[in-house]
Amino acid sequence: MLKIQNLKKSFGNKEVLKDISLDIQEGEVVTIIGSSGSGKSTLLRCLNLLEEPTGGEILYKGKNVLASDFKRNHYRTKIGMVFQSYNLFQNKNVLENCLVGPVKVLGENKEEVQKRALINLEMVGMAAFIHALPRQLSGGQQQRVAIARSLTMQPEILLFDEPTSALDPEMVDDVLEIMRKLTSGGLTMAIVTHEMEFARDVSDRIVFMDQGLVAETGSPEQIFENPQNKRTQAFLERFL
Ligand code: ATP
Ligand code: MG
Repeated sequence: MLKIQNLKKSFGNKEVLKDISLDIQEGEVVTIIGSSGSGKSTLLRCLNLLEEPTGGEILYKGKNVLASDFKRNHYRTKIGMVFQSYNLFQNKNVLENCLVGPVKVLGENKEEVQKRALINLEMVGMAAFIHALPRQLSGGQQQRVAIARSLTMQPEILLFDEPTSALDPEMVDDVLEIMRKLTSGGLTMAIVTHEMEFARDVSDRIVFMDQGLVAETGSPEQIFENPQNKRTQAFLERFL
């Protein structure tokens, strides 16, 4: 579904992504791990074009995303993203947060979208809060709404950038539980997380990033039981 080839991203003379090649197949759950500053967020942000890569290619269903005639706006609606800081619209209630993208951006029928939104809000356990404003909700609840909002756009790929890192510990499991449901539902997902147990359970593939490169990639068993790269070993030792 996504083929990343020799992707590079620099900020000024700081080379943050040096040469990333990675395929994400349809239905696959790929988890990206690595130290702070290794470029994980930058990689996700390049994939949905929140950042402009400085080199390399991203192919989406075989089409070059970075080509000048590529329909970027359409592509962006197919790539959902869930952020560490939820990023809900603060002046809109829970239901409105889920409606605004599909109705305003995709021009879909509001009643249709509303049906979908309610199903997704039910799935994340937030159907009882549709009239609440984000500030009236806990962090975990806001993140669950953010997931429902992303799903209501019907993305083909959903990117998660440390979705539980800002949460109080008692809320982390609720959010992971929802993500677990999504992984078994066949959605294509790329997840940046420090939740290693979760990553081991749900991932088809683990990518270990180090200093702007993919240092090692493999199945959860390979990476967690038998990492080959010294940097992967050192990184994972911190989680034992
Ligand atoms: P963390 O685990 O802390 O979230 P990360 O792996 O997501 O780290 P990135 O946020 O991708 O790392 O950042 C990688 C490097 O790129 C860091 O050194 C960061 O300071 C730098 N960087 C990221 N965004 C910018 C920017 N907009 N301008 C300049 N430097 C940036
Ligand atoms: Mg990050």
